[in-house]
Amino acid sequence: MLIVMHPHATDEQIDAVVSAVERMGLIAKPIPGSQRTAIGVLGNQGYVDDSTIRELPGVRETIHVSKPYKLVSRDFHPEPTHVNVAGVTFGHGLRPVIIAGPCSVESEEQVNAAAALVKDAGAQMLRGGAFKPRTGPHTFQGLGMAGLALLQEAGRAHGLPVVTEVMRIEQLDVVASHADMIQIGARNMQNFDLLKEVGKSRHPVLLKRGICSTIEEFLAAAEYIVAEGNPHLVLCERGIRSFEPSTRNTLDLSVIPLIQERSHLPIVVDPSHATGTRSLVPVMTRAALVAGADGVMVEVHPDPARALCDGAQSLSGDEFAALMNDVRALLDFLESRQ
Ligand code: PEP
Ligand code: MN
Repeated sequence: MLIVMHPHATDEQIDAVVSAVERMGLIAKPIPGSQRTAIGVLGNQGYVDDSTIRELPGVRETIHVSKPYKLVSRDFHPEPTHVNVAGVTFGHGLRPVIIAGPCSVESEEQVNAAAALVKDAGAQMLRGGAFKPRTGPHTFQGLGMAGLALLQEAGRAHGLPVVTEVMRIEQLDVVASHADMIQIGARNMQNFDLLKEVGKSRHPVLLKRGICSTIEEFLAAAEYIVAEGNPHLVLCERGIRSFEPSTRNTLDLSVIPLIQERSHLPIVVDPSHATGTRSLVPVMTRAALVAGADGVMVEVHPDPARALCDGAQSLSGDEFAALMNDVRALLDFLESRQ
């Protein structure tokens, strides 16, 4: 349930509502907004009898929320959330953030070359997998701990905050100590224990949409993280499995305006895993930005033909630089129309 206070409700009236909710054995979470304060009610198993609450001074209305997510919804938090990652800010209404880098960290030379070329082209963050969720066990599984250290060094050397995937709870501390943002991959979107632990960590998180997940499941997964107390969350659409085998996944661009209607969290798009095909990445990057994405994450490799993972969808340095020229012009145009 959501309790909406009058715009001029006093702090004492808000405190009285919080106490009344707590006396009912429930949890009250005040959410201050620019227009008015709302109070989220959590911990109920079913319908909450709101008859006493509605009568309290300062209460404008109560809204019963039947969705599996509350804290990440616009009902609870009408203003867009801004997520700061080591000085780079994601948020609806801000200039979209460009994250780029290799699928996997392969060597010191490779990750440094990648960092240099994405920085030169204008990216604001560096990506690179150290723990890799690969479909088959006989393929490159990532450099693990060594990869984390190389990614961190390359990010520092080039002034780029870094994002990398965590696959297991036991890796969380070490990943958080090396990376500015923790990625939960598509395959782990419903690993609820991992989501809860990441929610306790307070470290910025990039949560990717599961391969076959609905929007409701995606937002419910996000709710696990926020419910544990971590509001520093960015969502990522990376394509969903469909009947169409010509692309690796099917990029669901409609999810961008839909999520922005339903949730206050920033959402970015990964056109690389969504298409699986280098030639499609630039146009789908531009399409994502036109659709209102709060950022994009693009795979870039200094030598895609020799990439140990996802070379077919990775842009070369020159291709990425050309894309960034287009992106700058496009964002300038979109901003001029606001
Ligand atoms: C990745 O971004 O490195 C990745 C493995 O993507 P996804 O989890 O979306 O497949
Ligand atoms: Mn990849």
